[in-house]
Amino acid sequence: MFPLMDSMRIKYVIIHELCHLVHHDHTQKLIDLQTKEMLDWEKWKMKLERLLYS
Ligand SMILES: [Zn+2]
Repeated sequence: MFPLMDSMRIKYVIIHELCHLVHHDHTQKLIDLQTKEMLDWEKWKMKLERLLYS
């Protein structure tokens, strides 16, 4: 099972996956779009990884 996630971590995952509808890779274009939609995504990615892999 997935650990309990707060709404910001979930928001990061959804935004990331939605960005993949436009860019099917992890290039700078995807990063740019992701940053446009969620400025502090890096912080939430880190928090998500900390939760999943700790
Ligand atoms: Zn991805």
